[in-house]
Amino acid sequence: MQEYKLFINGEWISSGSGETFDNINPATLEPIGKFHRATEEDVNRAVDSAEDAFDSWSSTPAPQRAMILYRTARILEDKKEELARLMTQEMGKVLSETRGDVQEAIDITYYAAGEGRRLFGETTPSELHDKFCMTVLRPIGVVGMITPWNFPIAIPSWKIMPALVAGNTIVFKPASDTPLLSVELVKILMEAGLPPGVLNLVMGEGSTVGSAIVHNRKLRSISFTGSLETGKWILGETSRNMRRVSLELGGKNPIIVMDDAKIDLAIDGVTWGAFGTTGQRCTAASRVIVHEKILPEFQEKLIERTKKLRLGNGLDDGVDIGPLINESQLKKVAKYVDIGKSEGAKLVHGGKAVKPLPGHFFEPTIFTDVTYDMRIAQEEIFGPVVSLISTPGLDDAIRIANSVEYGLSSSIYTENMRNAFRAIEKIEAGITYVNSSTIGAEVHLPFGGVKSTGNGTREAGTTAIEEFTEIKAVYFDYSGKLQKAQIDLE
Ligand code: NAP
Repeated sequence: MQEYKLFINGEWISSGSGETFDNINPATLEPIGKFHRATEEDVNRAVDSAEDAFDSWSSTPAPQRAMILYRTARILEDKKEELARLMTQEMGKVLSETRGDVQEAIDITYYAAGEGRRLFGETTPSELHDKFCMTVLRPIGVVGMITPWNFPIAIPSWKIMPALVAGNTIVFKPASDTPLLSVELVKILMEAGLPPGVLNLVMGEGSTVGSAIVHNRKLRSISFTGSLETGKWILGETSRNMRRVSLELGGKNPIIVMDDAKIDLAIDGVTWGAFGTTGQRCTAASRVIVHEKILPEFQEKLIERTKKLRLGNGLDDGVDIGPLINESQLKKVAKYVDIGKSEGAKLVHGGKAVKPLPGHFFEPTIFTDVTYDMRIAQEEIFGPVVSLISTPGLDDAIRIANSVEYGLSSSIYTENMRNAFRAIEKIEAGITYVNSSTIGAEVHLPFGGVKSTGNGTREAGTTAIEEFTEIKAVYFDYSGKLQKAQIDLE
């Protein structure tokens, strides 16, 4: 079986312990490769290498750094199909979705490359004579990145590309379930001309390798995407030594369907939002809050549509839903189905693991008679389970939408403009869609959430660069004398 090593200081090297872990295809359970498991010393070596590379990389003019990203984007385009196929094998989602994942990486890479000529500061008049004021953006330094498995190339690219163009150097740890696409991404960046040491890849478990990143005090900032539980822990650890941290965490995303909605359009959106990526998206639609007048028709149509979905290997034509990522995720989803039943919700479709192939498949599952406070309507399941909640009207629907700890994505289906704008105004979420599902972010808009979905940062969009830069205020006095701000005002 092929072995994949760590990438430190421009070289593929074995881990200090020589240990490896297996990467398994979640549809077939066939092994994909052996990946070197980093030790704490390997992580520290990677950080030192990134630190050594920082001076030269941060001094390279940003438009020149951007040229490497333009080349990277073109190579990603050339390899899109190959990467998508590898991703389906590694992560399980269907080929059309893995193509979308690679496309998102291409989009953010071009977008970040464009920022190489737009790292704008501001200028402003001084309150004093013969003095000029401005701000400039500076890179943060060496940044640590830890990513989840559900978007194996898009999420790393959302972090890596803006960080690179801004002049940072990086130590990156991908999820242990999807290290292969990260290896491929690093290879592409090196082929595009990234200098040694600027990007370092360490692989292995979060509890050891991730923790070593979090605790290395040479890292000026940690950029993390993953679960609320891990995010809370990272926030606690990093706050002790005053480091920047960006957290992109979970969601419990609602779709409101009003009685004036186009029902078939809403069915399309709910089916895609709830069962696309087997429900394993931070923006998955897991709660559908339906106006009571149309609920019976909506429910019947949703069940009919869901029955048509085909589970299987995401590489095969006609397959709509791939497997869950691993056995523990399968058990978690099954546990939530039991919880839903015991809470009194009605299971009207799906609800069990199935075996079209040896892997971790779970039927798309629909609960009705769900109340807003049940655990299945409050906690992130991260699987193909959707809860239908009845509502008498918009105010109540918005209250239900806002009743959870998370605030990532949201959606409303309505033909009434007033309803749409009320939802935009009142739903507590980082993203609101009107007449489309909870998923479908575009890279030139900020991405992130409110409440426990994060700590206020946003990725991509106009905010992509903010996460990876410091602002320096510059006062340039050319008067040739001591001038005291706030004092020498005449
Ligand atoms: P996770 O268990 O928190 O893992 C995420 C990453 O953190 C993985 O690389 C993991 O390594 C690592 N990790 C685990 N424990 C760690 C620790 N103690 N210290 C440092 N790193 C640690 O989350 P997941 O199950 O992979 O991902 C699913 C979650 O991500 C969901 O909650 C989903 O909503 C969220 N998500 C959020 C967004 C967003 O942008 N808001 C996007 C996608 C996903 P291992 O792989 O080795 O365990």
